[in-house]
Amino acid sequence: MEKRILGRTGLEVTAISFGGLPMQRCTLTEAGPVLNAALDAGINFIDTARAYTDSEEKIGLHVSSRRREFYLASKSMARDRAGMARDVDISLDKMKTDYIDLYQIHNVKTRKDFDVVFAPGGALEALKEAKQAGKIGHIGITGHSFELLTEALRTGEFATVQAPFNFVETKAEEALFPLARKENIGIIVMKPLGGGQIDNPDLALRFILEHGVTTAIPGMDEVKHVEENLAALKNFRPLSAAEREEMKKLAAEIGANFCRRCGYCLPCTVGIDIPTMFIFHLQYTRYNMKTAIPGRYAAMPVKASACTECGACEKRCPYDLPIRERLKKVAADLG
Ligand code: SF4
Ligand code: SF4
Repeated sequence: MEKRILGRTGLEVTAISFGGLPMQRCTLTEAGPVLNAALDAGINFIDTARAYTDSEEKIGLHVSSRRREFYLASKSMARDRAGMARDVDISLDKMKTDYIDLYQIHNVKTRKDFDVVFAPGGALEALKEAKQAGKIGHIGITGHSFELLTEALRTGEFATVQAPFNFVETKAEEALFPLARKENIGIIVMKPLGGGQIDNPDLALRFILEHGVTTAIPGMDEVKHVEENLAALKNFRPLSAAEREEMKKLAAEIGANFCRRCGYCLPCTVGIDIPTMFIFHLQYTRYNMKTAIPGRYAAMPVKASACTECGACEKRCPYDLPIRERLKKVAADLG
């Protein structure tokens, strides 16, 4: 399987790797076959996060015995030194390992976040100490603000950067990747399938593989996702003119302001599973699943109509989506 060097880390990672966010949607038992299928197929880089509820725990449970077969990355939203130091130790414990290859500062969203991370007593200090202590190998950063990520890369502190890139949202190719390539910073592509909005993994991943990035980390929570995603790499061929036209059409249909199912908006104060509401609505409207979706929606313990419009979720959405407005549409169509 094609491997690429992850920038300054020097690690040779598979061009398609394992995104651990959807692991939190599996049961403890279901997660095992998916993780093991990815390793069996040759994937050698797994990315997860403290924020992905029990994703780290599932990795520890199911593949810590195969630790030498893969590089491991996690991340934390802690902004201060004490919080980050604590999270590194929790990650090590949950994933049953004594070493994490890459630890990232997760989703630096605001100027305030940025300033706290880099200030004395900030999260970066803790990661440097963890590296010195041999708990982690390299330090990276993730986010959705290209302005802040660019500023972060210019500090020279990071070996990798993780940002969204797919054929619907291509801004990183101009706003971030040239600097990363120039500085030999490894590029990890999050949301290569637009958080589930792009239902053609072959097209989506071949588009990314054509670009000079190190690895894409599509989220996988079923064994068939491992197979589908790796097929794009194994059967790689340049995109045809007709496929490029199809991508343009799809990108126009999806638009720019769509839910990527990242889950950063959670927890909702009344327990609404916001990303699932949006994916159900998408399947009901765009994919015309008029029979299957109402039943699945009805089984959700808390419906979109329960939203009290407190606004807590919108402050956490990296895309500033008008969640309250959209939930009203979900409630109108699905109840
Ligand atoms: S605005 Fe609605 S969906 Fe968002 S946290 Fe408040 S109750 Fe939950
Ligand atoms: S609403 Fe925003 S924060 Fe929540 S899952 Fe969608 S993109 Fe992520």
